[in-house]
Amino acid sequence: MRKPIIIGNWKMFKTSDETVSFLNAVDGACQQLEVEAGVAVPFVNLGLAKQHAKNLIIAAQNCHFEDQGAFTGEISVDMLQDLGITHVVIGHSERREMFNETDETVNKKMLKLLAKGLTPILCCGESLGQYENNETAMVVKTQIQKAFKGVNLEDAKTVIIAYEPIWAIGTGKTATAQIAQDVCAIIRQEIANIYDEVVANTIRIQYGGSVKPENIKELLAQPDIDGALVGGASLDPTSFLGLVK
Ligand code: PEP
Repeated sequence: MRKPIIIGNWKMFKTSDETVSFLNAVDGACQQLEVEAGVAVPFVNLGLAKQHAKNLIIAAQNCHFEDQGAFTGEISVDMLQDLGITHVVIGHSERREMFNETDETVNKKMLKLLAKGLTPILCCGESLGQYENNETAMVVKTQIQKAFKGVNLEDAKTVIIAYEPIWAIGTGKTATAQIAQDVCAIIRQEIANIYDEVVANTIRIQYGGSVKPENIKELLAQPDIDGALVGGASLDPTSFLGLVK
C-alpha cells in the first residue's frame, strides 16, 4: 500500500516571518494525517522551517550534484543534510526552462541524493506543444529513462516522481483526472520496464499542476496517483490544510 504524499512547492515565496507564521498555523494540525505532507521551502529559510516543523516534511527545491567546490550560488546535498533535510525536488520544469536544468544534471542530482540517503522528488512533464502533438508519452518516458540512469533497484523504490504537465503549472488548467491517471500509468509502466513490477508498485507518483482543495480528491482517487506537488494552493494555510485533509 503506497502512502500518499502531498508536498507544497513554495517556489520564491515567503519571507522568514511568513514561513514561521505559516508553520505555526499549519504544523500542529498535521498530526496523524492519512497522508505524508510537507513544503519545499526556499534555501534561506530551510533551517528556520525545520525548527518550526514537527509533523511536516521540509523539502529543498534544488541542490547541486557536486560535494563542494567553486560553484557560486549553489547548495550541496551535505549542506541540506546538515539542516536535517530529507527530501529534495529536482528537475522542476521552471528550473529546466529558466535555469538550464537538463536530463543529465537531473540524473547527477538524483545519483548524489540517493548516495547520501535523501529522497529525490523527481519532476517530469511535457510542454503544451508536446501535449498538442501527442508527444506526452515519449517525453515523459525519455525523462524517466534518463533520470534513472545508473540508479539501482533498491534506491529506485525510494524515489518520488512528480508528473507535472507544464501547461497545467500555475495556469489554472488542471489535467483532467483521467489524463493525469493515464500519464502516471505510463510512467509506472516505464519504471516496470526499467526495473520490475515490485519497484513499479512501490514507487510513488504525484500529480502536479493547478491542484487545489476542490480537485485533489478526484486526482488522488486515481489508482496510479499517489499524491500531489502543489504550487499556488500550498501558500495559504487554510488552502494547504484543505489539501492535506
Ligand atoms: C508546481 O509548482 O510544481 C505547481 C504544480 O504549481 P501550481 O500548483 O501552482 O500549478
